[in-house]
Amino acid sequence: MQHQAKKRFGQNFLRDKNLLKKIVNESNILNKDVIEVGPGQGALTSFLAQQAHKLICFEIDTSLKPILDPIEQAYENTQIIYQDFMTSDISIYGNELHVVANVPYYITTPIIFKLVETKQIKTASLMIQKEVCERLIAKPGSKTYNNLSVVMSYYGNVYKMMDVKRHMFVPQPNVDSAVIRIEKRDKPLLEPNAEKVFLSIVRSAFKQKRKTLVNNWFEAYQIDKTEIQSFLESFNIDPNIRAEKVTINQFMDMAGAWSYDL
Ligand code: SAM
Repeated sequence: MQHQAKKRFGQNFLRDKNLLKKIVNESNILNKDVIEVGPGQGALTSFLAQQAHKLICFEIDTSLKPILDPIEQAYENTQIIYQDFMTSDISIYGNELHVVANVPYYITTPIIFKLVETKQIKTASLMIQKEVCERLIAKPGSKTYNNLSVVMSYYGNVYKMMDVKRHMFVPQPNVDSAVIRIEKRDKPLLEPNAEKVFLSIVRSAFKQKRKTLVNNWFEAYQIDKTEIQSFLESFNIDPNIRAEKVTINQFMDMAGAWSYDL
């Protein structure tokens, strides 16, 4: 069946069987409960179904049903749900879930946040834009270090599994890609209150990259600048520092001692 790729749903399909097998094999999902976001024309789906214990796929585009129906029928362990992944409750599909997906790029960041914030998700292997991958794995002091890099190291380990060139997709996107692997920690590093503070102060710290931490936090929380400076100094942090130089441990220490309104 012919299917016209829909740009608005971020449809860039994979065809290369060796690449698809490599992604599935390296995702370590044998006999596990797996979620696929956006099965599309089912390129990854069959390979996932062959290894998973149970496979649940979320596809927003119902016009793909005639292509996906035969796959669903061929594999008893597979269910395709025609729903927006972003508004679906994924926690009901098991206590230990593993995600494998060639994600629709227009919602890469919201998908990643949903996955890290959902307790039941243990690992995620995701095809994403190379540029976002660089930000996710960046270390303090590097150009690409940002809010996402800090938040990712908070939730677990993130590493790049492989680079994927743009010509591997149909239609071809304007950017190269990479597959990243997120392996989440079993237990959060901070208790719920400190975690809430941590996520807020990290986000606001990087709001305007060229501004100092003091200025970003002043704008976000209206705290007196000299007070923020002394707060930083009490952690032996340069009061003129920019967020790109602050480590996750420093952010966590500050979150633990934070006494200002958010
Ligand atoms: N997995 C296929 C492959 O690798 O060839 C397709 C990948 S394509 C990059 C992204 C897929 O996600 C498309 O099938 C698209 O329709 C679907 N999609 C887009 N937005 C979605 C959403 N909010 N919820 C579920 N699926 C979505």
